[in-house]
Amino acid sequence: MEPAWNEILRAMSDLRSKSALVLFSGGQDSATCLAWALARYDHVETVGFVYGQRHIVEMDCRRRVLAHLRAHFPKWADRLGADHVLDAGVLGQISQTALTSDAEIRMAENGLPTTFVPGRNILFLTLAAALGYRRSIRHIVLGVCETDYSGYPDCRDDTVKAMQVALNLGLDARFVLRTPLMWLDKAATWGLTETLGGAALIDLIIEETHSCYRGDRSQRHDWGYGCGSCPACDLRSSGFAAYQAKAKTS
Ligand code: ZN
Repeated sequence: MEPAWNEILRAMSDLRSKSALVLFSGGQDSATCLAWALARYDHVETVGFVYGQRHIVEMDCRRRVLAHLRAHFPKWADRLGADHVLDAGVLGQISQTALTSDAEIRMAENGLPTTFVPGRNILFLTLAAALGYRRSIRHIVLGVCETDYSGYPDCRDDTVKAMQVALNLGLDARFVLRTPLMWLDKAATWGLTETLGGAALIDLIIEETHSCYRGDRSQRHDWGYGCGSCPACDLRSSGFAAYQAKAKTS
């Protein structure tokens, strides 16, 4: 007969594995990850970061997405737990990027877009893990992707895997970092949205999420709001066009 403490440890592990913490910025990708988590876990919490981002409007969008999910997706509403907003303003203090200042959005000499904020996702994951540690949440979900993306090195699968190892060693924990979009292109991400929540979720993503680096919500396109010309708008619009084209032929 197994010792009772083994049973207790297993029960605790089961409990933790049914909870997830989603890094939720208010953008399309993280909103899709939030829906993905709500479809899989009994309890889902969200965390967002204020870091001096130029598109601070995304913080309003994330509140609206959460309210909309609670009001119109009853099967998920009960699973949606606390929302946490953390101050990561130190990133704005130490970086001079096109996301944290008025610098031009362009390709820099090092081959990376000027929207790359060095250390951002690494810091976000560290803060999320510290929060997950306190909340006894084992699974951390983030919407990074290296299929068609802006070339950010901290969105790569290897970076996330290395962070999982580092966090588990450094916190003596067993976090699992989940990246459901890692190998999807943007058209497939829209397809995943449809699979998860049908037309209602597609509409929510279009109307309430925000991706545009310039924070522009004055122009409404068929794929949502944005300036229509920054790299984030380019990715979102071309992905939506490819998704629609695929839907027509299937
Ligand atoms: Zn834009």
